[in-house]
Amino acid sequence: MALIPPHKDPMGAAIAEYHRTGRAGTLRVFSSQFDEDEIPVEQLFRTFGEMPQIEQRALTIAQGKILDVGAGSGCHALALQEMSKEVTAIDISELSVEVMRERGIHDARAIDLYDERLAEQYDTILLLMNGSGIIGNISGMERFFLRMKQLLKPDGCIYMDSSDLKYLFEEEDGSYLIDVAGDYYGVVDFRMQYKQVKGETFDWLYIDFDTLSYYAEQYGFHAEIVCQGEHYDYLAKLSR
Ligand code: SAH
Repeated sequence: MALIPPHKDPMGAAIAEYHRTGRAGTLRVFSSQFDEDEIPVEQLFRTFGEMPQIEQRALTIAQGKILDVGAGSGCHALALQEMSKEVTAIDISELSVEVMRERGIHDARAIDLYDERLAEQYDTILLLMNGSGIIGNISGMERFFLRMKQLLKPDGCIYMDSSDLKYLFEEEDGSYLIDVAGDYYGVVDFRMQYKQVKGETFDWLYIDFDTLSYYAEQYGFHAEIVCQGEHYDYLAKLSR
């Protein structure tokens, strides 16, 4: 339940630099499962028109009191404010929250989703840019859904995007080589680096819709697909 301090916050550092100067270096992403990759920092500042369709859809249907979880640079919160919607943006990155305030987000808070000092209830909870990542791994499901029950009004709902990583395991003949006895194939360990700033390793969950739906039902939620993206990704609605 801790915040990320600036010296361990590569993404926050990249966001802060881009906000100040209009450009940023490479935000590097490492994983034991993949080759080194990078996140284009300007994409973290995407406008409504630049967002993928599933994100645009989530923002369009979000209503009432909205909670944007893991809001980053505040791109979604800003777009919601421009639509005159009421949004609270939270993030564990102190640097990102500072940037959100400077960008004009009225209610940006440096707080962990699981910190019970966040005690209001919301009509809509948004988790976007593989928002299921915050669940971490399958063992994080119970904690996640219990927390959602606390934060959601009884008739509220969650919009969360994710993608099915099974394409990474596809063989030439079209079959999938997945070790069913192993850990769930969508759990990815990541570590980021921006210039000299290195972050801690964390698990980030990508989840196929059927598995999400299975766990949602276990904890009293119903999952449906709102729309599909272009590459195994989708927007899910979770409600009670
Ligand atoms: N939603 C933004 C940023 C996505 S990156 C966008 O689409 O551009 C994920 C963000 O979640 C990061 O800014 C990270 O700091 C934040 N985050 C991770 N775990 C969190 C937690 N437990 N509570 C709140 N924010 C969290």
